[in-house]
This record gives sequence, C-alpha cells and structure tokens, in this order.
Amino acid sequence: MKDIKILKGNIIFTKNIKSFEVHENSYIVINKNIVVGIFKQLPEIYKDVKVTDYNDALIIPSFVDLHIHAPQYLQMGIGLNLELIDWLNQYTFKNEKLFSDVNHAKKVYPHFVEALYENGTLRSCIFATIHNKSNQILVEELAKKKLSAYVGKVNMDQNAPSNLIQTTEDSIRETIEFIEENSNSELIKPIITPRFAPSCTRDLLKQLGNLSIDMKVPIQTHLAETKNEVKWVKQLFPDCKSYSHVYKKHKLYCNSKTIMAHAIHLTKKEINLAKHENVYIVHCPNSNMNLTSGVMPLTHYLDKGIKVGLGSDVGAGHKIGMQDTIASAIQCSKIRHAINPSERILSESEAFYLGTKLNGSFFGKTGSFEQDYLFDALVIKDEHPLVDSLKPLERLQRFIYCGDSRSIIARYLEGQLI
Ligand SMILES: [Zn+2]
Repeated sequence: MKDIKILKGNIIFTKNIKSFEVHENSYIVINKNIVVGIFKQLPEIYKDVKVTDYNDALIIPSFVDLHIHAPQYLQMGIGLNLELIDWLNQYTFKNEKLFSDVNHAKKVYPHFVEALYENGTLRSCIFATIHNKSNQILVEELAKKKLSAYVGKVNMDQNAPSNLIQTTEDSIRETIEFIEENSNSELIKPIITPRFAPSCTRDLLKQLGNLSIDMKVPIQTHLAETKNEVKWVKQLFPDCKSYSHVYKKHKLYCNSKTIMAHAIHLTKKEINLAKHENVYIVHCPNSNMNLTSGVMPLTHYLDKGIKVGLGSDVGAGHKIGMQDTIASAIQCSKIRHAINPSERILSESEAFYLGTKLNGSFFGKTGSFEQDYLFDALVIKDEHPLVDSLKPLERLQRFIYCGDSRSIIARYLEGQLI
C-alpha cells in the first residue's frame, strides 16, 4: 500500500469525445503514477491509506498544449495588427535573434516555464529557436519545474534574416547534437522542428526527414496557416501537388508522431492525406484570429476522422492558459456555423477532450482518468458567491470561459504533486 495515493473531490474527465464523466464527491486511487480507479465509496482494502481531501474542489486532467513557441512568450499581444509573414519579419524574427545570447534565454525562459506551470499546462510541444545553448536553458528550466515537453531546435536555412539562418550543414549537425544531448530524459524529449517549408531548402527538409526515421524522433512544423503562405509554397515547390505534399515528399509527413500546426487552408486531397497518414493537425484559434489567418473547419475535420488537437500558439496566441484555447475553439466553430449552418458547433466535451485526452495521446496514456492512465491532474478551487448552487460541470464550464491560474490549487504529473 505504500505506493497508493488517494484524492477526494469532484472528478471530471472525458473518456469519450461525446460526453463528460462526472464523479461527484468521489475518490480517485493512484498506484505510483497510474490511475487504479474511481470510487464513490472507498473499498475496504484502502481503509488505512491517508486520503488527500480536496472537499468540493474539481479534479480534472491537466492540460496539454500541442503548439507553442517559448521565445515568443514575452512578445505576446504585440504587433497583432499584422498578418503572418509581416508579423514574422517585423517582430518575431527580431525577437528570436536575441536568443543568440544565452543571457537573454536565462531572462525569458524561467518566465515562460513558470507560466506553463501556473496555468496547468504540464505537457507541451515547444518550438525553441535555432540557438542550442539557449535551447538547453529552456530544457533545464522545464526540468527544474518537473514539467514534461517535447522541445524542438528550430531549423531555417533560407528566407529569414541572415543571423537567423544557418547553413544546411550546421542546421543538421546542431539538430543531431540537440537530439543526442536530450534523449535520456523521461519527461523532456527532442522533436525535429523545421520552422515551415518556406524557411527550409529541399536539402534541409530531406535530411530532417531521414533524421526523424533514423533517430526515431517525432516532427512538428506549420502547415497552410494563411492563403499567402500557401501561394508562396506553391512558388517555391512547383513540383509538389500541395503544401502537405512538400512535407510528404521529404518524409516529414509519414508517421503518426507528426504535428502540423494550423492546417486551415487545405485542399480535399490534403484533408484525405491527413486522415490517411494519421498525423496530428493542431488548431490554434486565438493565433488564427489574431493574425487574420482564417478559421479552421474543425468539426468538418473531426467528422472526416482527422486527429485534431489544440495549441495556444503563443506568441501569436495571446493567452497561455489552455482553458482559453478550449473556449476559443468552441467560439470559432460557432462563427463558422453562423456563416455556414451545415458546419456543426464544437461541443464543450469535444473541446475539453481535445485539450486533454487527444493532446495527451501524443505523450502516451495521459489526459484521462481511465484505469492505467498516467495520473496528470489539476485541482480547481473556484471562487464564486453562488458556487454552492452550481453543479460540478457548470463550475468546469465557468472555469473554461472565465477561470485562470488563480483557481488552480494543485498540479500532479505522473502521480507526483509538483
Ligand atoms: Zn506556431
């Protein structure tokens, strides 16, 4: 019994995408790091185990963010009057250049990691920059806070300011170094990260695709975020059938551990390809609205059987808390539905499922409280004068739309209070 932990509270999660499971005033039993079960009455065998009683607080799976840029954390909210390419050139590239100085990383990354922790995003897939010394600071900060993440050294060898691009050779060599340096941690792992097709030569894309296969490392990048970007890719890669096929051709779109952020402007063929290859398409609603990129037809993709996750896309996204991204995804689907009633609205359980269980599946069995899942959880104590008159599910709804980090009173990763 020494490895057993028991928590009590109002337990809510989404086993299935269609509905919430609500266990009011119940016990969740954890063995080491794994969920054993949820009980209304505690079984006799556990009678001598100390219970951590959170009273009427909510216990929910912790959040997972499948798309976020660590170096952009302190530029959030700035320059959002621009569209993607201008925003990159006028703000983001200038900001990312600063990370050539490791002292800048030491200044910024602790704030970024603290914000992830505070907001209950205990796992995330992160773009760093091209600079490995600074990237390693990010890894160290995540490790100090005991957070889990995939961290990517960004690759660019064309179409960016001269001090943000590397030779193809250096870009590959430093990617291998970063992967090797970070392949022994359980919680923090490397991920191959070509920024997006326009910033990579064919040679770089090809070598990254081969690296992913040879070193068994997953991939994250951007896809079809704006119409102008799609046009640009067509000019740069005229021999490829579509933007998705640029990645496909270079073996960067061919395993289920691939993350494609945005994917708003896809052709029918690309939609079929996403389903066929079982890649993760990541919806970043705040970012897409802020940069006037468009709005993904999310429910259409889901109904086609595509695996769609959610990302904050900080700094084009202006909120790091995933509950805000969940609410925005629902709102965006309502706008699409209002314009085109044949597109259905994303339900609350669907949106919550995407931000917890579906996003979590990139890391393994996490994001749900089913038996044998890793126990990753947040405890939510909401302050509201009428809290006693609200049902647990109504309180979760309220937290998603109106809550913030101040309501999170405890965070568990793999069974450990962190
Ligand atoms: Zn992004």
